[in-house]
Amino acid sequence: MGDNTMRITKKIRDEVLSKIAGEDASKIIDFIKDKKETSEFIIAEKTKIEIHRTRMILYKLFEANVAAFVRRKDKIKGWYICYWDFLSKNIKHTYVKLKKEKLEKLQSRLEQEQNHQFFMCKNACARMNFEKAVDFEFKCPECGELMNQQDNSRTIEFLSDSIASLKKDIANS
Ligand SMILES: [Zn+2]
Repeated sequence: MGDNTMRITKKIRDEVLSKIAGEDASKIIDFIKDKKETSEFIIAEKTKIEIHRTRMILYKLFEANVAAFVRRKDKIKGWYICYWDFLSKNIKHTYVKLKKEKLEKLQSRLEQEQNHQFFMCKNACARMNFEKAVDFEFKCPECGELMNQQDNSRTIEFLSDSIASLKKDIANS
């Protein structure tokens, strides 16, 4: 891994949070980030996100290891309440992990493109690999037009470029 100098900007943080738990996750983190052990009910009330959704988002953040909670029994009401904290130092690890997952997806997609022939209807209603195209006797299942082999060199080029820049990102983080 890199020299540990990558700065986690708010933009990167929000991008990570949104990928883990949806767009409202940033709202919740903005509210708890400078506090200690914030009650789930307070979070829901202040962010105006319904309590079940608030819990669902927080749980996803917990699973990704960017939020932690303690559970305490409320002395008056007698039930358990979760109190939450943001683990900001773990955002970077999750950021790199998400990048690596994306890299794997792109690499397997690239392999697909490099090792298979694709056929496409000239009206662009369908695109499929050779085996499938044989099943349809090279006729489009939608409109019946003949399907032609598609030149996917630009797709391959695009995927290769994306992979190279993602690798650089990962190395620099
Ligand atoms: Zn067609």
